[in-house]
Amino acid sequence: MVCFEVIILGGLGGPSEFSTQCFMVRPLDSDNLKSICIDGGAGVGHIMDTLLISDEDRNVTIEDFNRANDDFNRYFNICHNKDSKDVNYNVNPDRLITKRVRYNTTSLSNVIDTTMLGFSNKVMGLLEDKPTVLQKAYRIYQGIISYFITHPHLDHINGMILNSPLLVDKEVESKKTIYGLDFTTNALKSCIFNDIIWPNLSDSKIGKLQIETLNEYDSHQLREFPEWEIVPFRLCHGVKITTEIRSYSTVYLVRNKVKKNAIIFFGDMDYDQILVKNNNKVDLLNIFWNYLVEAVPLANLSGIFIECSSSSKINDKQLYGHLSPKHLISALRMLYDKYLSISNSKNSGDNKIQKFKLNVIITHVKMVADSRDSRETILEELKLLAKEHAELQDITFYLALNKYRFVL
Ligand SMILES: [Zn+2]
Ligand SMILES: [Zn+2]
Repeated sequence: MVCFEVIILGGLGGPSEFSTQCFMVRPLDSDNLKSICIDGGAGVGHIMDTLLISDEDRNVTIEDFNRANDDFNRYFNICHNKDSKDVNYNVNPDRLITKRVRYNTTSLSNVIDTTMLGFSNKVMGLLEDKPTVLQKAYRIYQGIISYFITHPHLDHINGMILNSPLLVDKEVESKKTIYGLDFTTNALKSCIFNDIIWPNLSDSKIGKLQIETLNEYDSHQLREFPEWEIVPFRLCHGVKITTEIRSYSTVYLVRNKVKKNAIIFFGDMDYDQILVKNNNKVDLLNIFWNYLVEAVPLANLSGIFIECSSSSKINDKQLYGHLSPKHLISALRMLYDKYLSISNSKNSGDNKIQKFKLNVIITHVKMVADSRDSRETILEELKLLAKEHAELQDITFYLALNKYRFVL
């Protein structure tokens, strides 16, 4: 049963500063504006951009679409009425597409479901009393109760930091908590909210911003969303340049305990199965997958938001702690094997699982100076690689396009 709404405020991985990773998550059909954000790489500016294409009183037009996607257009020259090959970029789960509109602008926008652009009518209805886009955006910002940060790299926190003075603005004041594993919260306290890089808004004198450390594997309950629980796990994210010590990141499992569905948000990560095995390293992804297959039946796994920063053409040494399609495919095959062995042990079965049906939403693509959109390249590589493995045929790959809404 679908129960999560995810709005992509930032789905990119840089190096440009706009729209870096930030996912706003709220219960589907909630009758208030409360939300959480997984990462804070985008903020009020992106909420405003998303609002601009969310007007329920009119149909979204091609101009709206172009405005919504101005970040693509900054990278690529739009070829009007050219390049109209019919490619489905899977921006939304098929079952949710109610209207498809074909455009001949950028290659990414050939088939786009405009009904899933921007905030839902329900959210817009809750903002009716606010006359300006800025006021509406601040109201949505007010509704963010907490941030769950995967790691303290700037592309995952910049919007959250720059927006934080709003916490003490009389008109929009609110309280928020930033959660993370210790390597994240320690860094935020000592390197960001330290009265040097940024005012220490987390000081108890102000009482508006709390920074709380989560424990790995511990389920965190949200007071505001009593049906939800969030469990963090550590991941590897390359090595530090100076010391070559491992750098870490986090994956969050968000589960609705009543409806049983779960979604997963990965922070930046590296994963090279062969390297891990050969070097006898602790396989953190393996630990997380083991937990997942025990905790969430495949049928209840609604979506995996996972990074795939660079094309497989990039030399592994230049991934700097990220995934390319070949590594992502090997990570998914490993997940398949684990669901298979669980299914076999339960059914003393016939050595296959019914269908490895999965929504995999690609995030954090790094935009490189190519004539083609890197997201398009990566999606194509993933689909081609998946074709080589019979067990992956029922996976649907999507792109986390900015200002899009996923219902999962
Ligand atoms: Zn990143
Ligand atoms: Zn990072």
